[in-house]
Amino acid sequence: RFITLEGGEGAGKSVQARRLERRLSAAGLEVVRTREPGGSPHAEALRAVILSGFAKAFGPEGEALLFAAARIDHLDQTILPALRRGAWVVSDRFADSTRAYQGAAGDLPAEWIARLEAVAVGPNRPDLTLILDLPAEAGLARAGFRRGAGQADRFEAEGTGFHETLRRAYLEIAADEPGRCVVIDALASEDAVEAAVWRAVEARLDP
Ligand code: C5P
Repeated sequence: RFITLEGGEGAGKSVQARRLERRLSAAGLEVVRTREPGGSPHAEALRAVILSGFAKAFGPEGEALLFAAARIDHLDQTILPALRRGAWVVSDRFADSTRAYQGAAGDLPAEWIARLEAVAVGPNRPDLTLILDLPAEAGLARAGFRRGAGQADRFEAEGTGFHETLRRAYLEIAADEPGRCVVIDALASEDAVEAAVWRAVEARLDP
């Protein structure tokens, strides 16, 4: 089973990915917890390039292709081998991040992003996507707190409008694909979010 966690900055994806991993492991399942951009050695190398801001030199389309190249390697080297041996995969971000960040917020046409996703992901879509939803201001305040003042990466440094666009994009994905996506209120406490995540996993995937 393939589960992805999505959401804007400060939504708590990585905390919840770890908590979900713990719950699934406690249920006796093998779990591979991973993340994007990254998740395999070559994709992690691309992550460093992307987050350094250097990838901007390639323009929006080129940068989206770098995300896609990282995703292809992440699938080939990490996700698909794990799924093949029956492990559960929990990924902190996946293709919906590209729809939201490079597509909606980055102004690349949805149709172009969809074609890129067809190439990079094909049929290997998540069984369940948990969208951790919270207002942009709250997420940015949390992300700022986590990293310390002046350390925001270049995506966090965008204005609030950018992050509001992201939030709307994620909610649209959830509305378009209710069979795959569950929206979770990420303003709640970490324990409450963990419980909501687990309810969704139990209801949809019967671990
Ligand atoms: O989730 P995490 O904070 O590790 O993501 C790293 C950064 O990459 C984030 O600031 C996020 O905004 C950005 N990102 C992106 N497009 C993606 C995935 C992540 O701009 N497809």
